[in-house]
Amino acid sequence: MKRKSSASRPKPPKGRSPEEREQAMQRIVGGAVDHRDKRMAGYREQSLRIHPWICGRCGRTFDQTNIAELTVHHKDHNHDNNPSDGSNWENLCLYCHDNEHSRQVEFQLNQDIMVKKDEQEPAKYNPFEKLKDLLGRK
Ligand SMILES: [Zn+2]
Ligand SMILES: [Zn+2]
Repeated sequence: MKRKSSASRPKPPKGRSPEEREQAMQRIVGGAVDHRDKRMAGYREQSLRIHPWICGRCGRTFDQTNIAELTVHHKDHNHDNNPSDGSNWENLCLYCHDNEHSRQVEFQLNQDIMVKKDEQEPAKYNPFEKLKDLLGRK
């Protein structure tokens, strides 16, 4: 059996080299990350601009001299949820902010215990169920 000597090899694409494309991609991704970081860092400033400088729990008031102790809490505990109207932010002093988070952890632990007590069948919740759905959907 004779092989064709002119077997068609895939031609390299014209124009940019893979390296150049890779760099361009990284520039795009890097830019997006930069943008996100800036937005994330800005939420405290924004919240302090929108909301009064008062702790939402203990009512302690703040001014330029101690504003560093006033922190911004995310009401839904999702730090990526930063609506510009400030509806997910709450100004809390450091102490109340700490309290808020330890309370939330306790609350979640209690919830877990309650769920485990209620649920006697161990395999009722299948974490891969959603994955299976995703994979099955074509
Ligand atoms: Zn407070
Ligand atoms: Zn918080």
